[in-house]
Amino acid sequence: MHHPHDPFVRVRGAREHNLRGVDVDIPRDALVVFTGVSGSGKSSLAFGTIYAEAQRRYFESVAPYARRLIHQVGAPKVGDISGLPPAVSLEQRRSAPGSRSSVGTVTALSNSLRMLFSRAGEYPAGADRLDSDAFSPNTAAGACPACHGLGVVHRTTEELLVPDPSLSIREGAIAAWPGAWQGKNLRDVLDALGHDVDRPWRELPARDREWILFTDEQPVVTVHPVREAGRIQRPYQGTYTSARRYVLHTFSDSRSQTLRARAERFLRSTPCGECGGSRLRPEALAVTFAGRTIAELAALPLATLADVLDSHRDGAGGESARVLTADLLTRIGTVAELGLGYLSLDRPAPTLSSGELQRLRLATQLKSGLFGVVYVLDEPSAGLHPADTEALLTVLGRLKAAGNTVFVVEHHLDVVRGADWLVDVGPRAGEHGGRVLHSGPVAELAAVSESATRRFLFGPLQGGAREQRTPSGWLRLRGVRRHNLRGVDVDFPLGVFTAVTGVSGSGKSTLASQVLAGAVASGAAGTGQADCASAEGLSAVDRLVRVDQRPIGRTPRSNLATYTGLFDVVRKLFAATEAARKRGYKAGRFSFNVAGGRCETCQGEGFVTVELLFLPSTYAPCQDCGGGRYNSATLEVRYRGRNIAEVLDLTVEAAAGFFREVPAAQRSLRTLLDVGLGYLRLGQPATELSGGEAQRIKLAGELQRVRRGCTLYILDEPTTGLHPADVEVLLRQLHGLVDTGSTVVVVEHDMDVVAGADWVIDLGPGGGDAGGRIVAAGRPGEVAGAEGSRTAGYLARARR
Ligand code: ADP
Ligand code: ADP
Ligand code: ZN
Ligand code: ZN
Repeated sequence: MHHPHDPFVRVRGAREHNLRGVDVDIPRDALVVFTGVSGSGKSSLAFGTIYAEAQRRYFESVAPYARRLIHQVGAPKVGDISGLPPAVSLEQRRSAPGSRSSVGTVTALSNSLRMLFSRAGEYPAGADRLDSDAFSPNTAAGACPACHGLGVVHRTTEELLVPDPSLSIREGAIAAWPGAWQGKNLRDVLDALGHDVDRPWRELPARDREWILFTDEQPVVTVHPVREAGRIQRPYQGTYTSARRYVLHTFSDSRSQTLRARAERFLRSTPCGECGGSRLRPEALAVTFAGRTIAELAALPLATLADVLDSHRDGAGGESARVLTADLLTRIGTVAELGLGYLSLDRPAPTLSSGELQRLRLATQLKSGLFGVVYVLDEPSAGLHPADTEALLTVLGRLKAAGNTVFVVEHHLDVVRGADWLVDVGPRAGEHGGRVLHSGPVAELAAVSESATRRFLFGPLQGGAREQRTPSGWLRLRGVRRHNLRGVDVDFPLGVFTAVTGVSGSGKSTLASQVLAGAVASGAAGTGQADCASAEGLSAVDRLVRVDQRPIGRTPRSNLATYTGLFDVVRKLFAATEAARKRGYKAGRFSFNVAGGRCETCQGEGFVTVELLFLPSTYAPCQDCGGGRYNSATLEVRYRGRNIAEVLDLTVEAAAGFFREVPAAQRSLRTLLDVGLGYLRLGQPATELSGGEAQRIKLAGELQRVRRGCTLYILDEPTTGLHPADVEVLLRQLHGLVDTGSTVVVVEHDMDVVAGADWVIDLGPGGGDAGGRIVAAGRPGEVAGAEGSRTAGYLARARR
């Protein structure tokens, strides 16, 4: 029985994923941290059980129509939860913002600024006051009519579409056309329309060239395809689409990332001439506040915007302006406190890291006025410099003080130490985890010998007494300019492990992932580098590998097995079984991506998309195959006692045993084990993997390649999502790469990793315009003593 004054959330019999009938009591009105190695079941408990159940109850109460859908999506596997308040999730994965959203829309700060302009802006003489909507590029009332509020116009030219005019259309003159059947179709349509597809492009009449590339007409003609490979093809009705139309359409509407990227190669985008890129109507741009347009204010770093607003607190507009300004200032203050004062309101949300985005949402929640809610967060310290961790704890504390409960899945030990209550899950990953080892005050974990977290919280620091390596050479970049880097000179040592440090927004990612990666990539291709005046030593690098946290695929069709190539090996094994040969099943039969062997109800996805009104769509298991993806005939074929669906359900660890005698499978399985991913299932859809897991899968892919020459690896915060025990495993791998002659550059906040590096480049001193300089560079010991570096003190502490 739930007692209204019972201060605990009581979970009974939680069996989601790997949880083994977990019973746990967690206090409300507290800051609770969930810890455990990666794959131990923390998210399955915090998000998969507690949050999911709160969500389910909420839907049931507000939307009876949604019940059937909820039933389809499935309730979390849990016996009972009592004392559960409504929950709000600030999870990082699966919450990609739309392409039109920005810092201003995510935080709703733009709304207030627009209100301020509407009520208290200075209008040109005789102009009518505008509604606040008129200051938004995302409404018809505000959008610049020339670019529809996009700020850029996409153009294409004959040179882009037809790079080699000596070719005929049949030879592929129109490079922008799609490949395969569609391309042939367009060619045959042109032929049927009477164009000469065998003459070199440049010899065609100018009017025809213009029409072929740019027309908006879409004529339909009967096409009589020529015989191909001896097969007679039937006539059909073909529609013509000009190259420009095809490219623009693909670029704006295609759901395929690859196709969009390909289309983009044939486009040049230029700022819109009408609005100068500000995306707004001229009437809106004529209004100013503190002497600036709303577009100008939205382009300022938030910290600067706050200064401008502050100095105009008592300006025109009267009481309502004062109230709006004061409100804006408090809200911007919270964002700045979370280390994000360098962002501007107009910064597109898709260019933010997932850590930045989550902290923005967190800052926004503080003003929501909600209380009695459980907030569930996923590693809010991701991307945060140790100097800013204190502020994070303060903000979490304020959420709690407002009458809420805060649950965070977190690895950062300073955050763990700051919690009121600790739930430690483990002891290890997957089937070796799934138990709650400790639920209580942090200090009491010291008595729990099974815990993998205990050693790091209480044990003596095992200082990285690694012998420091000597660089084998240098990459010297001069006059680096991009974002907030304004003409700096940087030297990267080769053949060693380098850590790039600095507060959030200081320019680390820009320097490592963009400038350095770009210089090396273009240096290898022999082209110039746009981001730096000169670069020296590039020829010493044979290969560049960027291991980032982007998903390995965006649909449930890609998974661990398809991504690593392991699936090809497995399908061949199945095709070679006697049962398969007898039935004439080839390897393709065992693919869920083509018709034949797969379940046709879900077309091999195992899931069907469920559209919930007003909510992001979710996936529910297919009723026919129950998520198995294959039809029953395919599943009758077994390899060593298991069918293909059962094999995809194996964890990497189990598969390593199962495929013991298959060398081709062993290679990828071993490297996945080496990077600590033994707990993942082979068929786990890409959409269920975290950024950190995606990054480690890519790293495993790299490790299994045969290496020659000097490779440069660039990793952006590889420790995100990793428990200190997982970090140890990862570091062993990365240092192993350096020992075999490669160069590793990581952007990193974990000071234990930085202390173990051979070289440190510290950026700053602040974020945004207050950063972008090299504050210190040298051995960790040197940087730990550098003056004016916000990293130095924390690094010194980690070296002790
Ligand atoms: P953590 O948050 O501690 O890293 P998770 O809760 O994400 O761990 O995962 C715990 C276990 O559950 C792992 O073995 C993982 O592979 C498995 N798992 C996670 N998500 C799913 C899912 N959607 N379906 C099946 N198994 C899953
Ligand atoms: P860090 O990696 O140290 O957190 P970044 O390199 O991401 O810092 O950012 C450095 C500066 O460049 C910041 O002021 C940031 O706002 C800006 N910046 C980064 N990426 C973009 C982008 N895609 N568009 C505009 N500005 C950017
Ligand atoms: Zn415009
Ligand atoms: Zn199905």
